[in-house]
Amino acid sequence: MEHEQMAESTNCDTDPCQTRAFYKFFIGHRRATIVSDGPLAPIPPIDEFPSVPEEDMSAVLRRHSLGTDALCFQQNCLVLEVNNQRVLFDTGMGASTFFGESCGRLIDNLELAGISPDEIDVVLLTHAHPDHCFGLVDSSNQPRFKNADVYVSKRDYAFWTSEETATSGEFARFNVSGARAAFEAYGNRVRLIEPEAQPVLGVKAIDSPGHTVGHLCYLIESAGERALFIGDVAYHHAVSFVHPDWHSSFDTNPEDAVLTRTKLLQWAATEKIRLVGYHYPFPGLGYAIQEGKGFRFAQEPMQVSLTIESEI
Ligand SMILES: [Zn+2]
Repeated sequence: MEHEQMAESTNCDTDPCQTRAFYKFFIGHRRATIVSDGPLAPIPPIDEFPSVPEEDMSAVLRRHSLGTDALCFQQNCLVLEVNNQRVLFDTGMGASTFFGESCGRLIDNLELAGISPDEIDVVLLTHAHPDHCFGLVDSSNQPRFKNADVYVSKRDYAFWTSEETATSGEFARFNVSGARAAFEAYGNRVRLIEPEAQPVLGVKAIDSPGHTVGHLCYLIESAGERALFIGDVAYHHAVSFVHPDWHSSFDTNPEDAVLTRTKLLQWAATEKIRLVGYHYPFPGLGYAIQEGKGFRFAQEPMQVSLTIESEI
């Protein structure tokens, strides 16, 4: 009975005491820090994946020892040091509580990690959904990263600031209004990019449409190592890997999302590219392993002892 109760729990940790989190590591020679914006509020699987039969979803979650009543999503932003620049990948929910009270911790956690928001030179966005771009601004819509240029895909910018999208539904209206405010705050420091662009030395934008029309992943290369900041291409560490063919209610173009997810996971598995997962269990690092028709996410163990020489 006890075991049964454990299996049915959400396993979602939204306690504020547990969400002040950062994690320092290296990608090749580059210093990197995962900085949490806090988890999204737990969401029932049926709301996230409405086309998936409940028993199929529950079977996948049980196999991973996860609760079946809710899905849990972290927000793992990345700060990468490139020469003298600090590059932030995605920004969390900012002041919005649309996805729960446990979000919005990026600035506090940056400061705990010894990084001032004013030291961020570049922000790279995977896409313009609220949990990735609303954190660009504070509750008064002022820039939180005063010295940063903001890079976003041309297609996503056009889509998530358009009147046509704003009038297509309630969530879309909320998304567009926040995205417009966030981008307006940065004026001409918003840089619109195409896939294959290299906004920062050693960082390339990878075309990955479907979750949103202009979604970009970022491939980071240093000293022979490759890591992929995968954004929301495969955004649940169990469900999206076992079943890349299951699309979610937040995928703008479900068919493209399935194609992109399958293609990128296949690539990452074959090439053994390290993944940096925005919504995966903190800190979100690991590898895709081919398993049958799908994949498995093999989470990298956290390193808790660091040599003094590394100075991090
Ligand atoms: Zn997301």
